[in-house]
Amino acid sequence: MAKRLVIANWKMNGDLALVRQTMESLRAEANVDVVVVPPAIYVAALSDASSAAFSTGLQNVSQFAAGAHTGDVSASMALDVGASWVLVGHSERRAEHGESDGMVLAKGEQALSAGLSVVICVGESLEEREAGNAESFVRSQVRAQAACLRQAGAIAIAYEPIWAIGSGISASSEQAVAMHKVIRETVREVAPAQADEVRILYGGSVNAENAAGLFEHPEIEGVLVGGASLDKAQFAAIIRAASAAAS
Ligand code: PEP
Repeated sequence: MAKRLVIANWKMNGDLALVRQTMESLRAEANVDVVVVPPAIYVAALSDASSAAFSTGLQNVSQFAAGAHTGDVSASMALDVGASWVLVGHSERRAEHGESDGMVLAKGEQALSAGLSVVICVGESLEEREAGNAESFVRSQVRAQAACLRQAGAIAIAYEPIWAIGSGISASSEQAVAMHKVIRETVREVAPAQADEVRILYGGSVNAENAAGLFEHPEIEGVLVGGASLDKAQFAAIIRAASAAAS
């Protein structure tokens, strides 16, 4: 199995003090790739210090290469300051900024052509799940990224049910594993050559208590962590859980 991938998504939280604390305290663990994704303004400072212990990423990237796009940051700029990953299609971006599947695809393609690795976020709302549509919804989100998935480059898909994000209610391991299988199947259908390379992560209220249970399942190849990544002890415990499961 490829190394497990543990990603910290600070969202719009953190400050220079947290950047410094992360630089000083984050330790590498065997068989785990760690990526820290702070707000864009802190990426350069954190990337200066990133080392064997972790790499850095952006929470979003422009769907354009350059030009008159006030407020946006391009994929090549992210690379320029030392980032190596970018999240695209996080549900908060889809909801608050009206990002469509088409925009998410354009962002992913920009990132890959600049040489960044990409995490494509997908996941259903509570309404979709309660209506019995979770699988078909997620399948269609994955299919919409087919052109990106067919490209060479490092790609992960984060399954993040919207009802589990920031709610304190994680999906059960069974729910996550079942959806990870659906995602793998869908990637195999649209991008057969890349299907085994794509790492499938779970995100949604992952914390120090539930991480080990999630990592018991080989289908859960990593986690995307929001709230708990702001707490250095919790985040370190999640990384250790990933490492312990791999050894
Ligand atoms: C996220 O931001 O992608 C996330 C999963 O958040 P949380 O861990 O806080 O649910």
